[in-house]
Amino acid sequence: MLDLTYDTPKPKTIAGAKQDWELVIGLEVHAQVSTNAKLFSGASTKFGAEPNSNVAFVDAGMPGMLPVINEACIEQAVCTGLGLSAKINLESAFDRKNYFYPDLPQGYQISQLYHPIVGEGEVLVELGPNSSGTPTARLVRIERIHLEQDAGKSVHDMDPALSFVDLNRTGVALMEIVSKPDIRGPEEAAAFVVKLRQIMAYLGTCDGNMQNGNLRADVNVSVCAPGQYEKYQATQDFSHLGTRCEIKNMNSMRFIQAAIDVEAKRQIAILESGGTITQETRLYDPDKGETRSMRSKEEAHDYRYFPDPDLLPLVIEQSYVDAIAASLPELPDAKKTRFMADFGLADYDASVLTADLDSAEYFEAVAGQTNGKLAANWVINELFGRLKKDNREIEDSPVTPTQLSALIALIEAETISGKIAKDVFEISYTTGRDPAEIVETEGLKQVTDTGAIEAAVDQIIADNPDQVAKAKLNPKLAGWFVGQVMKATGGKANPKAVNQIVAAKLAE
Ligand code: ADP
Ligand code: MG
Repeated sequence: MLDLTYDTPKPKTIAGAKQDWELVIGLEVHAQVSTNAKLFSGASTKFGAEPNSNVAFVDAGMPGMLPVINEACIEQAVCTGLGLSAKINLESAFDRKNYFYPDLPQGYQISQLYHPIVGEGEVLVELGPNSSGTPTARLVRIERIHLEQDAGKSVHDMDPALSFVDLNRTGVALMEIVSKPDIRGPEEAAAFVVKLRQIMAYLGTCDGNMQNGNLRADVNVSVCAPGQYEKYQATQDFSHLGTRCEIKNMNSMRFIQAAIDVEAKRQIAILESGGTITQETRLYDPDKGETRSMRSKEEAHDYRYFPDPDLLPLVIEQSYVDAIAASLPELPDAKKTRFMADFGLADYDASVLTADLDSAEYFEAVAGQTNGKLAANWVINELFGRLKKDNREIEDSPVTPTQLSALIALIEAETISGKIAKDVFEISYTTGRDPAEIVETEGLKQVTDTGAIEAAVDQIIADNPDQVAKAKLNPKLAGWFVGQVMKATGGKANPKAVNQIVAAKLAE
């Protein structure tokens, strides 16, 4: 189903002192599942509640409390898997990952190490045009998606001597989306997260709010000599790749890119001076612009993983998956392709208009009633520009799709010029009035009556004999007459007609 008429972009290369290096990146994206209740309790997931008010006994790790799976979380994970063209595993299971943390009262996190609910999938990550103008995209393979519990929050900055804990987040469902190491540069990594966020927003499975921590990523980075990655691709043998380091918990697109860049350079410096990379978990410090070692890489056995004895294996029916598949909304790739086909849009415009559902719906409502290309221009250039100036979202647009398409229809019918249309748009935007009414009341109709235009041209020619003499020698000066006529008619004269009449009169 994926449209692969894209060119494959070149990987990011960093020139070291001795040789060129390529980047290899794999992401583990933690996406909070959009549901009202937590993964194994009925406590609310609402953000910003009073600390420790959304906590069930099981979330607080009270002895003898039993987890009960929230079916809504399963449905959302399956839905996300289908949105990433992934294999849905009809049998999965939950494991305990044991470790101590003050904000993890159970003493373990329930996760899915051995049998995740979603298997391999893929995501098309668009990356803009290459030097010859062809759009490029990377197909990033998904390794798996598993469901797991989030931890709570330790608060260290409320008191100089005490730490506090807020368990509201404890037990909230996360989807961990693990990519294969198919991402080849910092921009691609950010674009991958943007694409995941877009798909999940279309599906309604994660709100993607990075500020609230609802979407965050662990970034795995390694470097290799050119040619090594192709060997890995041919064999799927990881030994062709360099040793990776994992940078934990990145919650902004900017930091993801900056962290990858400094981490790759750190590794290159070590390798070129004859050292080796130690596989470890690192933290990115945006103030210092560096990554620092946090702990050495821990293996599954360090966590004493074992199947959670309180939870049965999770078995779902194919018919359940089919029902979710049948109710999937149109996804970003499909919508973009359809916009390009139905409305004659360029790849870039179609990407911009499908970036979020509200924009796509707004555009489609406009384009459905008028010329698609003009609609795209007006939505992207005028409307988005104006909304941005006011810091407003598309759903709060004071100009409705019906009003914008009516405005475009007035341009198409040559009732108003494109220039006057911008004034009408501004009036409509600030007052909410209908374009046709504005044009009528303000007397903005384009003068297409050639008689009236001729009269205006004659008058200006009669008043400016010197200019006429000059213009007869230099036809470029005709522009001056056109300007005068437009001025005399308050910008309402049809520019095409004015140009023609001025040229004809000056040639007499
Ligand atoms: P672990 O279970 O030890 O965390 P995984 O196999 O799950 O290891 O891989 C974790 C992430 O690291 C995945 O996103 C994967 O794509 C990425 N990854 C694996 N090898 C490399 C490598 N050589 N360079 C960069 N990323 C890698
Ligand atoms: Mg991992």
